[in-house]
Amino acid sequence: MMYQSEPFPRRVSVAVKVGDVVVGSGHPIVVQSMTNTDTADVDSTVAQVAALHKAGSELVRITVDRDESAAAVPKIKDRLDRLGVHVPLVGDFHYIGHKLLADHPACAEALAKYRINPGNVGFGKKKDVQFSSIIEMAMRYDKPVRIGVNWGSLDQALLTKLMDENAEAASPKPAEKVMHEAIIQSALLSADHAEAMGLGRDKIILSAKVSQVQDLIAVYAELATRSDHALHLGLTEAGMGTKGIVASSAAMGILLQQGIGDTIRISLTPEPGGDRTREVQVSQELLQTMGFRTFIPIVAACPGCGRTTSTVFQELAQNIQADIRKNMPVWREKYPGVESLNVAVMGCVVNGPGESKHADIGISLPGTGETPAAPVFIDGKKATTLRGDAIAEEFQAMVQDYIERRFGQ
Ligand code: SF4
Repeated sequence: MMYQSEPFPRRVSVAVKVGDVVVGSGHPIVVQSMTNTDTADVDSTVAQVAALHKAGSELVRITVDRDESAAAVPKIKDRLDRLGVHVPLVGDFHYIGHKLLADHPACAEALAKYRINPGNVGFGKKKDVQFSSIIEMAMRYDKPVRIGVNWGSLDQALLTKLMDENAEAASPKPAEKVMHEAIIQSALLSADHAEAMGLGRDKIILSAKVSQVQDLIAVYAELATRSDHALHLGLTEAGMGTKGIVASSAAMGILLQQGIGDTIRISLTPEPGGDRTREVQVSQELLQTMGFRTFIPIVAACPGCGRTTSTVFQELAQNIQADIRKNMPVWREKYPGVESLNVAVMGCVVNGPGESKHADIGISLPGTGETPAAPVFIDGKKATTLRGDAIAEEFQAMVQDYIERRFGQ
């Protein structure tokens, strides 16, 4: 494939309404996340859903794994409504979803979407019956579903059948290709089954998650050509910290560039006691840095080098980014359009003035041997030069003033 510097046109897909959020058919790529609280613990689940939503998650998935969790779902929804947190909740079901939805009608009603894993819905003859009963529930309550295949829980009967057929073929394919095909077929056959029962195509989102970057790209690229269902992208078991972020961004970045993907989740393993909202931040930054959506003002900062005299510019860049993130929930309401703001914080004269001129507001701090002065550029023109010990505070105040002037109503 040739290198292309602009994203390909978005793949044509059928729009699916999840609560008030539309996924697919060229609508903005939706950011979603998942809680890691015990859903039966209403207080902690409400707090985490609210935090994820405040961070920018547009859909939040919660585990529904037993009666206590299913009974908690309507309470969680009520509490969130009373807090003014109106984010669609997605129920994640495995093994007994058919039973939980049947036994807990208030849960079935409160959820905005049901996630079904065709590899975990039952085995043998029970599989079709149990899958069908979840689809019946979706139709009864007028809810969409995500048919979410995961290679860690792939339908073993289907995989064995395809492996056997491959073994007898004149030119057998590598086992990994058969695995990809099994993942894709599991999603497509399950979608066919649901549609044959009467569930609309506009009620079905597909996902086919694997944990290796190249496998994910291959599976989704193929799935995208064989279906027009809306697609949820995610690298499963992406891992912790930078590894999870890099692997997810590499895989999803390539697919998004090819126009594939209507909603994304970055499955980061949090550090012990870490912040669950990090996965939302990373999803937003991936979409924003690729130019698909804007969520929050971007701070461009140079990496620093031997010309940097101190850590002032690192601290300034960090403080400004933290300040923006903290204020964003209020700014979003108060300053419409503020998310498109570009700020630059640069370490010396080499690239500082140039980069700062390209930003809406930028500062070029003095490097080694330079006069201790920091020119500030606003809308491409030099506005002032800051000096002294309070450069950081004065620049932060200038950013706030700029936002007020440009985006204040
Ligand atoms: S702008 Fe200056 S301090 Fe920053 S990386 Fe470039 S040369 Fe180094």
